[in-house]
Amino acid sequence: MDADVIVVGAGLAGLVATAELADAGRRVLLLDQEPEQCLGGQAFWSFGGLLFVDSPEQRRMRIHDSRELAWQDWLGTAAFDRPEDHWPKQWAEAYVDFACGEKRAWLHGQGVRWFPVVGWAERGGYGAIGHGNSVPRFHITWGTGPGLLAPFIARVRAAAERGLVTLRFRHRVDELTVTDGVVDGVRGTVLEPSDVPRAAPSSRTAVGDFEVHASAVVVTSGGIGGNFDLVRSSWPARLGSPPSRMIAGVPDFVDGRMIGISRAAGAHVINSDRMWHYVEGIHNWNPIWTNHGIRILPGPSSLWLDARGKRLPVPLFPGFDTLGTLEHIMKTGYEHTWFVLTKKIIGKEFGLSGSEQNPDLTGKSVRDVIGRARADMPGPVQAFLDQGVDFVQASTLDELIKKMNAVTDEPLLDAETVTSEVIARDREMDNSYTKDLQIVALRQARSYLPDKITRVASPHKLLDPKAGPLIAVRLSILTRKTLGGLETDLSGRVLRLDGAPLPGLYAAGEAAGFGGGGMHGYRSLEGTFLGGCLFSGRTAGRALVASL
Ligand SMILES: Cc1cc2nc3c(=O)[nH]c(=O)nc-3n(C[C@H](O)[C@H](O)[C@H](O)COP(=O)(O)OP(=O)(O)OC[C@H]3O[C@@H](n4cnc5c(N)ncnc54)[C@H](O)[C@@H]3O)c2cc1C
Repeated sequence: MDADVIVVGAGLAGLVATAELADAGRRVLLLDQEPEQCLGGQAFWSFGGLLFVDSPEQRRMRIHDSRELAWQDWLGTAAFDRPEDHWPKQWAEAYVDFACGEKRAWLHGQGVRWFPVVGWAERGGYGAIGHGNSVPRFHITWGTGPGLLAPFIARVRAAAERGLVTLRFRHRVDELTVTDGVVDGVRGTVLEPSDVPRAAPSSRTAVGDFEVHASAVVVTSGGIGGNFDLVRSSWPARLGSPPSRMIAGVPDFVDGRMIGISRAAGAHVINSDRMWHYVEGIHNWNPIWTNHGIRILPGPSSLWLDARGKRLPVPLFPGFDTLGTLEHIMKTGYEHTWFVLTKKIIGKEFGLSGSEQNPDLTGKSVRDVIGRARADMPGPVQAFLDQGVDFVQASTLDELIKKMNAVTDEPLLDAETVTSEVIARDREMDNSYTKDLQIVALRQARSYLPDKITRVASPHKLLDPKAGPLIAVRLSILTRKTLGGLETDLSGRVLRLDGAPLPGLYAAGEAAGFGGGGMHGYRSLEGTFLGGCLFSGRTAGRALVASL
């Protein structure tokens, strides 16, 4: 035996599982195909948003949240409807309990802290039992993704110094070894050393091979979002045909290979057709990975138009229903859409997801956070306005439409359609009441004080010159999360097709659909992915400690 446990993938889920195992005295071999500078996987790049329920931060903002409300929201969002949802639903319930209880205290005890303003993601827009968060729940980690990773990296590094953890980078697993029906190790390729910057594509040139054995293997290899072929072949009919053009919200190493490798060893993969891709993607002007896209975290005011200039239907407003919007877009026959907005809106309402796009929060600088709140335009947003290929600005609507048409391969926008949408919307601003539900929603959002102060521009006409110039942003489909995956029971044991555990194999994080093989069902409330890695990584680690 080379270790008690082999963990495949040194992202957040793998680090959490390893830390739990090593702190209980187990010997772990932690393997990753990427070089050491990539330690932490996707979580390093993440915004660090975590869903908590009834947290002190929420209570300070006078948000009344409860386990019952969160579970109602989860069920309305997940819409579990398959026999395969047996374990995912149980994981979801256990996860909601974790988010209501131990999650915050456990992280707090390890030194993690949160920005005091709670964000409101996925607002839904349907009935009380439909999709979306009834209340704000998105807690941004102070230090974003790197801040969340820090305690787990510290625990793993300390265990490595004690001789309990061995980290092997550039070790790509190609096969799980199975003896008498028991997974007892992995076989793979040693890749040549690489000094590429973190998350830049690293070479796949082999310099050797390896085989190692242990009592158990934990697969924490992430999802499929960096592999467009897999995304397309998993694309569900309910979302139309797969997009011909996408941008990547995840690095190249999110290649999904290990899921197929696990299946070949006897693991059951479920809910592969459930994925969480965004519809507000923009091409990164300063790319790190292949096809690098950034997701806009939009406030609710932008006018959202399809490729032909028609407004998206109710309640597909910015930040309300990601997959509902994706489904609608794919039915339009075009894959891009447009935000039309003003300088006043973009300055207040555009957040950009990613640790590097939020240097104030990632750098834990109170001074810079205050500076951003006071600025007309956050620096990273200004950089996109200046250099992003998707952004155009103009002082008149006619000029804006001309510039929008110049950005796409074909001039798809008819000036009359766009103009009438903008003018009609602006007419609805004349009274303090309106039939336009987006305007109702943005006025309503401002009754949540943090939204009013930091997130939702004071309502105004798009054609008000004082709010200008006018801006349009072309939005692309951006791949990100994998909601299905390896089916696991509540201990993180991977199951076979017949429902029995595949002895020796565990899984956690995105590879396991964040628990059970798809605890989100069809959709997510947001901030549940990092949390899913924490919970499923911890669960698998602790279950193995108990069983070894
Ligand atoms: C820009 C960005 C912003 C995000 N923001 C948020 C947010 O605010 N809130 C939230 O909840 N979630 C967010 N997420 C999602 C979240 O970060 C990821 O879902 C999560 O970090 C996945 O962690 P993981 O450990 O499961 O997998 P990963 O981080 O993908 O790690 C998997 C590791 O396994 C390795 N690996 C894969 N295959 C092999 C193999 N065959 N052999 C060896 N090694 C292998 C990979 O190299 C990688 O290092 C964001 C993601 C991104 C990219």
